[in-house]
Amino acid sequence: MLYIGCHLSSSKGFLAMGKQAYEIGANTFQFFTRNPRGGAAKPIDEADVKAYLEFAEEHNFGKIVAHAPYTLNACGKEERVRDFALATFKDDLQRMEYIPGNYYNFHPGSHVGQGAEKGIDMIAEILNQVLWEDMQTTVLLETMAGKGSEIGRSFEELRAIIDKTELDCKLGVCLDTCHISDGGYDIINNADEVIKQFDAVVGLDRLKAIHLNDSMNPVGAHKDRHAKIGEGHIGFEALMSFIKRPEFEGLPINLETPNDIQGYAKEIEMIKEAY
Ligand code: FE
Ligand code: FE
Ligand code: ZN
Repeated sequence: MLYIGCHLSSSKGFLAMGKQAYEIGANTFQFFTRNPRGGAAKPIDEADVKAYLEFAEEHNFGKIVAHAPYTLNACGKEERVRDFALATFKDDLQRMEYIPGNYYNFHPGSHVGQGAEKGIDMIAEILNQVLWEDMQTTVLLETMAGKGSEIGRSFEELRAIIDKTELDCKLGVCLDTCHISDGGYDIINNADEVIKQFDAVVGLDRLKAIHLNDSMNPVGAHKDRHAKIGEGHIGFEALMSFIKRPEFEGLPINLETPNDIQGYAKEIEMIKEAY
């Protein structure tokens, strides 16, 4: 089963996102839990959530992915930044309980000159404060391009965070094709080896979601500039053969390509046709 979708605006609520996804041929989607640059989240509308859950079941939606705001930096240098990360994380995870069994994806963080090791410690420290035994959400660490001082540029860095997290059973990974390519993993010529490495270091059982993006830059560029599917350095063929791998069967695959809603609809159609 292919679960394909894209990033949608959450401003009109869950049912509106579900309906919009359905209209463009999607059966999953991703959304920001609040303004991507931070700020307060709207209160949960329980009637809207209930209507969405019914709609999603009726239309056989896959799991959906909430994305934390970009400003959430669990390993910021300033205490103020880390306090914001902690408060946002806690609040978002509470709200996620209204849509149980889905995913909360976040960028591990940027160590801003403190060093990767210290950054990893700080990220695990926050995870150890926000995860709880009975939570129904799986928190996803996103693979990063390695722009600036980003943590998560290698599978080893993600593994180190997992190892330092007590409730690591609540953790998974979201693999972003643009990011891993920018991070130096060649999925065009060497996808088998990349998957093997992922499995050896992180474990394929941790892989819960995919961000499907082409990259404006070649392998190892550490830039993080997404391109439309087939218009970047990875290319349509390599991206398609990547998502067709049996290891990825059933995972929610979301586009984060530079597109408006019509553009997403076209890409989704293209992908479904080639799948
Ligand atoms: Fe992301
Ligand atoms: Fe992404
Ligand atoms: Zn990106």
